[in-house]
Amino acid sequence: MTVGIIGGGASGMAAALAAAQYPNTQVILLERQSRVGRKLGATGNGRCNLTNLHAGETSYHGESPAFASPALERYPVEETLNWFRALGLLTVAEDSGRVYPYSDQANSVVDVLRFALEKPNIQQKLGFEVEKIKKLPEGFQILGREESLVVDRLIIACGGLAGTKLGGSMSGYQLLRSMGHHCTRLRPTLVQLKTSWAGVTGLKGVRANCRAAIYHDGVLHRESTGEIQFTEFGLSGPVMFEISRDACQGSGDWIADLDFLPQWEEKELLQELLRRQGTALPASELFTGILHNRLGRVLTQAAGISSQRLISELSREQLQEAAAQVKGFEVCLTEPLGMDAAQVTAGGICTSEFDENTMESRHVPGLFACGEVLDIDGDCGGYNLQWAWSSGRLAGACAGKE
Ligand SMILES: Cc1cc2nc3c(=O)[nH]c(=O)nc-3n(C[C@H](O)[C@H](O)[C@H](O)COP(=O)(O)OP(=O)(O)OC[C@H]3O[C@@H](n4cnc5c(N)ncnc54)[C@H](O)[C@@H]3O)c2cc1C
Repeated sequence: MTVGIIGGGASGMAAALAAAQYPNTQVILLERQSRVGRKLGATGNGRCNLTNLHAGETSYHGESPAFASPALERYPVEETLNWFRALGLLTVAEDSGRVYPYSDQANSVVDVLRFALEKPNIQQKLGFEVEKIKKLPEGFQILGREESLVVDRLIIACGGLAGTKLGGSMSGYQLLRSMGHHCTRLRPTLVQLKTSWAGVTGLKGVRANCRAAIYHDGVLHRESTGEIQFTEFGLSGPVMFEISRDACQGSGDWIADLDFLPQWEEKELLQELLRRQGTALPASELFTGILHNRLGRVLTQAAGISSQRLISELSREQLQEAAAQVKGFEVCLTEPLGMDAAQVTAGGICTSEFDENTMESRHVPGLFACGEVLDIDGDCGGYNLQWAWSSGRLAGACAGKE
């Protein structure tokens, strides 16, 4: 039997290895780029956060997050780590549960998968862009620009639209739609959020730990604690990524209320600032030793304090206002950056049209899908790659079995 897999990304490679466990199954892995795992090699800022020890159904979203459960139960995190260990990858888990290759190089993950694909019953066709697929009375026809081939079963592992420069495209959605499947609304997630606050450009590159509370039309929407990064256009980093799935979707005002010193009470901070009045330092140094210098100056300015003044000249009310800015700095969020900048696509092919126990289409027998092309997206922290491994291996194991 022949299994064709369209997409040599995380889920496609996992599917190929799972299908090839059956010696009588021939696997053909088709990848439009010149190498497999291009996006994977860029994940986790080049470190690849390949899974998370806390992965479970609650970490996933979509119209039916429960769809992810059977794949995650059959190929859970521990089993995934054993699988990678057997492929030759050593990993290390951080306290947060995020797992990285011990080498700290995403390419190590790509390499062990690439080497594992070197099997007699796996054929790779790189630079092969699938343009169309057709259902035949027996099997499927796969059409590229110059070549077409016929397979018995077909797995669509084309990924989503996010990360366009790394291979994200509409292709998987289009191929599955051509087979009668439907797609939910696509939108970028795990993406930075733009702000209308002009001062953000002065903080470009600054990282800070904070607790962010996000309000939609004055109502608390979500809270998250961790690192944020200021960028040219707005706010990025894990905390922003976590809220980006919902923030700035639809109408209304979205405000981020940032507490840059969540472990301190405002009055404790005020005491520290009052203590600094005994120095001869200028107001621009009010937060030196507490916050990033540039952030400290911006917050001092936001409190209406001129940098020309001395700390010793400031009134208690002014110091109180400065402390209040640190504990609750409000930034207006306008919209997420586009699909280019996003790590993941929220939305995708309707999961109700697939069997969650096999990843096979309910409409077209012999057709399977896995990974990001489906309407499942995970939280920030290794959950999306875990979904790619689990769903890819389930699809491969079921498609490859006679
Ligand atoms: C910058 C960035 C960083 C990220 N970091 C992390 C992280 O640290 N941890 C985490 O869990 N997730 C991370 N993600 C998300 C994660 O990479 C994806 O969710 C995951 O790769 C999805 O796997 P996939 O197999 O579904 O798709 P992909 O890995 O995108 O693979 C799809 C493949 O299909 C190919 N393809 C598409 N159409 C065709 C066609 N018509 N013919 C042939 N080939 C085709 C594409 O070229 C691509 O190689 C990150 C994403 C980005 C963009």
